[in-house]
Amino acid sequence: MSWELVVKDKFSCAHFLKDYKGKCERMHGHTFQIEVYFSVNKLDKSGISIDFTKIKGYLKDILPDHQVLNEVYDFSPSAENLSKYFYFKIKEKYQVSKVIIWESDSAGAVYSEDNTIKKDVN
Ligand SMILES: [Zn+2]
Repeated sequence: MSWELVVKDKFSCAHFLKDYKGKCERMHGHTFQIEVYFSVNKLDKSGISIDFTKIKGYLKDILPDHQVLNEVYDFSPSAENLSKYFYFKIKEKYQVSKVIIWESDSAGAVYSEDNTIKKDVN
């Protein structure tokens, strides 16, 4: 038996991309959405695995809000780098399996450590 739990949150921040040629090199803002996935294989007596309330509280503590991401982090705050950063940050406390950062409704980045090479079945 296994489950994949998911918790969503959002944060509004400004950023710009260094070493990038295009409109994103200028400061602009997003309401980023974060989706955090956890793999679990056992439940407690109440039928839950990880308490959503605790995870949501933890996300509130670590997510930036109304900040300039370039001033908060020492990496270029692309969706790719943000998903990787939050993956390892959350992994310090929870068994996370992947993190998705949505920069808009239609574009985002997924980070996981799943290196499984899928082979064709002959
Ligand atoms: Zn952007």
